[in-house]
Amino acid sequence: MAGTGVQLIPSSEEIMQILKRTGAFREGHFVYPTGKHTAHYFQMPLAFRYYDTARVLAVALSRKFRVDRDISSQFPKIAIISPSSGGIPVAFGVRDALNAEQIYWAEQESGKRSFRQYVNQGEINPCIIVDDIIRSGNAIEQTVQLVSNLGASTIGCGAIVKFRGAPDSIAGVQVKSLVEYDEQFYDSADECPLCKQNVPEEHVRF
Ligand SMILES: [Zn+2]
Repeated sequence: MAGTGVQLIPSSEEIMQILKRTGAFREGHFVYPTGKHTAHYFQMPLAFRYYDTARVLAVALSRKFRVDRDISSQFPKIAIISPSSGGIPVAFGVRDALNAEQIYWAEQESGKRSFRQYVNQGEINPCIIVDDIIRSGNAIEQTVQLVSNLGASTIGCGAIVKFRGAPDSIAGVQVKSLVEYDEQFYDSADECPLCKQNVPEEHVRF
């Protein structure tokens, strides 16, 4: 049966079709709060507002961990962790698919990431950290540190979409994703070809 699980993972194109259909991926002319311009915008929670779509995405991501023997050998005594609110539906879906024992999520409060739950040293199983999208990898990195401070190890991490500019591995753990997206940012309006073409711009948040 080797390889069966791999075949069940939808292709990047199939995942992108889901993201387009649900409005989670849009093409146009967008300006981020940082002032950067781009022709594409991911708003992942839009894909997770439909239960069926959310399930397809989370199950697909869970299979990336299931086919990794080093990770799956530790099932089900693992914890699924979300670094942010955006990753919570992903974390619950992946937990369900892997029948993982624990689930935790972190939040950012006045610039500091911490667990929503009160967690004591030694309580957390080996962790898989999942998010909806990995743009820079900072959220995952901070969560790896958070987990490490509580005496737990990170055995896997991943997201539905990963920007190609984000690291391929974090703290020695390979970053898994269903889509690797080559996002192009322009630092200012002067450098933005869409501005030059007078394409109407839309201001968005991350
Ligand atoms: Zn522009």
